[in-house]
Amino acid sequence: MKKQDKYLGFEQGPIRPPSEASSLLIRLTRNCPWNRCTFCRVYKKAKFSLRSMENIIKDIDSLHNYIEKIKLNITVDGYIDNRAVNNLFNSLEDKDRVALNAAVNWYSTGMKSIFLQDANSMIIKPDDFVYILEYLKKCFPDIDRITTYARSHTIVRIRQNDLRRMADAGLNRVHVGMESGSDIVLKKINKGIDKAGHIKAGLKIKKAGMQLSEYVMPGLGGIEYSIEHAMETASALNSINPDFIRIRTLAVTKGTKLAQEAETGDFQKPTDTMMAKELRLFLETLDGIDSHIKSDHILNLFETIDGKMPEDKDKMINIIDSFFELDPGQRALYQVGRRMGFFRGPDDMESSPHLERIKQTCDLYGVTPDNVDSVIDELMKRFV
Ligand code: SF4
Repeated sequence: MKKQDKYLGFEQGPIRPPSEASSLLIRLTRNCPWNRCTFCRVYKKAKFSLRSMENIIKDIDSLHNYIEKIKLNITVDGYIDNRAVNNLFNSLEDKDRVALNAAVNWYSTGMKSIFLQDANSMIIKPDDFVYILEYLKKCFPDIDRITTYARSHTIVRIRQNDLRRMADAGLNRVHVGMESGSDIVLKKINKGIDKAGHIKAGLKIKKAGMQLSEYVMPGLGGIEYSIEHAMETASALNSINPDFIRIRTLAVTKGTKLAQEAETGDFQKPTDTMMAKELRLFLETLDGIDSHIKSDHILNLFETIDGKMPEDKDKMINIIDSFFELDPGQRALYQVGRRMGFFRGPDDMESSPHLERIKQTCDLYGVTPDNVDSVIDELMKRFV
């Protein structure tokens, strides 16, 4: 017999895209139904489960209820009356405090967007999905955006008409982890989809009238398939023309199959310099699209890569070139300073007040141009 999904209070999953920092998180499913990508440890050892419709609606009702209470406790200056909200918080059980916290955070950031969790929310029945979207719109009529993560494998199995219904009900952006467009790399990382599937899924989302955000992962092809990875990923994106291409550099994290492969030598992670070359080739190969390119993650070597194709293509490539113009010592300083959060791009080095501090850190850890990548790898593990 199917186990009952007992309601334990408002739930939130572990992750959301960086661009959804201000979004209210509503959890439709728990964890990842695939959970086999070799580089990913987010949901390792966590079993996938669907949440009951009843419990999802309870979460939304609970949020709505607290938002209404917050609205009754706004000062004349337009701020939340902290004393009143604290009193409410103290009167609640722990499980209800999570919902109140989420409501306060969402209210404070303007209540404009909602992100549906976890890794592949669109796996639930289309009718249920549409019902949830409509319910959210009814409770929060002023929201501009509802978004979710979805696997290409799932999207290709949803009927076009159902995708259209979801779009009409308010789902206006889907985030897809493409990672690579290379069939060799996709097979090696066990993504469970090939290039053709990624393209088909992407085109279906666009045809339904939703915005599409595709995540790509420099470094994932290893040294061996770096060029193939760059060119095939760009080729897949050229066929889709997504609204957003988001870069998230590979970090090999402990406990993953990829980390084991790195240990045995079956996978060789490219250095930062190799990845910069790979990224340059990737950007160069993008063609015939008008996507926005975003590099909004601390793992990325160049946060300043941010622009619209095709007009900003040269500007973005120039950022990488300015990294190559640095001498090896300066490049190592940039790599460390970037990962410490002091630089967004190579140009920041000229005027940075933090240069001395970064030099001291490099001295402390004995960073040299030869060992900088292994030191960076250790630093990066803290962010994944
Ligand atoms: S589909 Fe996404 S969440 Fe699931 S294992 Fe792969 S990368 Fe991780």
